[in-house]
Amino acid sequence: MGGLGVPAACALARGGARRIGLVDPDPVELSNLARQVIYGTTSLGRLKVEAAAARLREDYSDYSKDYPQLGIETYPVALDAINAADLIARYDFTIDATDDPAAKFLINDTCLALRRPFVYAGVLGMTGQAMTVLPGRTACLRCLFEEPPAPGEIASCREAGIIGPIAAVIGEIEAAEALRWLGGGVPELAGKILSYDGAASGRMRVLEVGARAGCACGAARRAENAAALAPGHN
Ligand SMILES: [Zn+2]
Repeated sequence: MGGLGVPAACALARGGARRIGLVDPDPVELSNLARQVIYGTTSLGRLKVEAAAARLREDYSDYSKDYPQLGIETYPVALDAINAADLIARYDFTIDATDDPAAKFLINDTCLALRRPFVYAGVLGMTGQAMTVLPGRTACLRCLFEEPPAPGEIASCREAGIIGPIAAVIGEIEAAEALRWLGGGVPELAGKILSYDGAASGRMRVLEVGARAGCACGAARRAENAAALAPGHN
């Protein structure tokens, strides 16, 4: 429930999601207020998930007769190898709003095992990325990078900094991906990676990402089988 999770949760609530689960072990700190707009000075010291849930319930529960009552569920824990499967299995779609590569791979591997879709995102400085993974159908994180980077190999978000508006753009895009899936559609970024560069005139690019042969997710085998079965192939 940081720079990505806050805008994503607000957009989901506005967009008509019926049940939203928030996962974060941390309290609200003064340094969060610049980019995590749901929190105010009265939230300082409260658990982020509780402060955010209170605001979302206040602002969006039953705000329109067209939408059913919004359910917000809170988990004041860090996602880890023990709880990941249980948390992810409770929901139809997972939004990666973490700032830790190991957590991103844990989400990837757990969603693959459970065959649940998720959207990956990363933000660093003035740049951001997002990609949706439909397990076994489109490229996963391990199709892109076989292993998480070693600690210290990449600049952590804390060192490079996160610019609030960049995270907000990417978090809103993540929510749009979730809402497309929840509405029965195919997310726009399934098998594609979007990159946004806030320093290069706000350039946004979307590139197709092929599944990697040999990746355990099986998306490459599925693509081969589909090609073999395609009309005209002999
Ligand atoms: Zn893969």
